[in-house]
Amino acid sequence: MVLRDNEQFIVTCPGNPNAENIQMDFTVFWAMPPDPVTILPAIKTLESMQEVFFVDFIVPRGSELNVFCLFTHRLLIRAYPAVRMTTQVPSKPLTRVVVSGSTHGNEMSGVFLARHWIKDPSELTRSTFSATAVIANPRAMEKCVRYTQQDLNRSFKMDYLVALDSEEEPYEVKRAKELNKIYGPKGSPEAYDFMFDMHNTTSNMGACIIVDSPQNSFAMHMANYIQTNYMQKCPIYVYKKGDEESYTIDSICKNGVAMEVGPQPQGVVRADCLAQMRALVRHGLDFIEKFNQGSAFPAFDIEAHTLISREDYPRNADGEMSGIIHPKLQDKDFLPLNPGDPIFQTLDGNEVVYEGDSTIYPAFINEAAYYEKKIAFAKMEKKVFSIPDIQLKLD
Ligand SMILES: [Zn+2]
Repeated sequence: MVLRDNEQFIVTCPGNPNAENIQMDFTVFWAMPPDPVTILPAIKTLESMQEVFFVDFIVPRGSELNVFCLFTHRLLIRAYPAVRMTTQVPSKPLTRVVVSGSTHGNEMSGVFLARHWIKDPSELTRSTFSATAVIANPRAMEKCVRYTQQDLNRSFKMDYLVALDSEEEPYEVKRAKELNKIYGPKGSPEAYDFMFDMHNTTSNMGACIIVDSPQNSFAMHMANYIQTNYMQKCPIYVYKKGDEESYTIDSICKNGVAMEVGPQPQGVVRADCLAQMRALVRHGLDFIEKFNQGSAFPAFDIEAHTLISREDYPRNADGEMSGIIHPKLQDKDFLPLNPGDPIFQTLDGNEVVYEGDSTIYPAFINEAAYYEKKIAFAKMEKKVFSIPDIQLKLD
């Protein structure tokens, strides 16, 4: 069957009331691009499975839909990566570009820049395209909080985006769906070409570029271009582990990067951080302009940090933090941490040392927003990636 634009669609599968568990696979074959893409839409009401069992999801216009349902006795929910339409190099000029601020409402470089650029977008204009700015989480911005009910930048998984609308769903899920309608839909040919997502951190991470995957050659070239043209140190952080589903706001667009500038306290705007953010976005836009004009970008090797795991604080039997970041680790983001180096100081005066067996490069050290996520710092390793050359073929 061929589906209409963003149609909300109900698939009814013949249920087996006696089946304890259920496995359902859905494959969507898009008219464009030529290769079929597999996604797994949200699975709902597993507990209350009756004879009829409903799933809803958003599909791109012109999709051809094939549905396969399997019922088994083993619970098997396969976690497909939510497919960003492409991490391939674009085959056409990028014309629909968006710059997001206030994805976290108390990260003020992005809040100030996005508000300014909404009023005066001249800085976002190049000869081949004009980017637009958006306030991603207006309610959080008004209250100057990271989010109101749940972290918006963790709300772009397909199961949120395709869930049936309900009164009870958190504001950030509603907002994620709205943004997905405007700048997505995620994984569709209609999605915006690129998103810059502006963040601040309380950690001493400098001007950091966050890319989803080293296979994303276009974003890695942009990061390389920014590093080359930006006068300050500018580390690259590759955040995705394997095939985990993208949950960030830029994942609704065909491609994107996040920018993380710090240290800056929450709710505070510092001129140096704002200037760094502005420069990162400017160079990123310049890169898109040059790409659109057909410039050749040769292959290169580049160093980037990849996530190993996240480290929690020491805790007592009640789960309360019993230690804090050691002064020798504080502000040492992206610097080597060797086995035996101190990482925490307990309140009774002891040191906790890093017990790994190799040197790592921590980041997000003592990030204020991560206390609730039980993350004291992210453990990173440094790797060198070989990125192939890219060039847009102009007609
Ligand atoms: Zn943020």
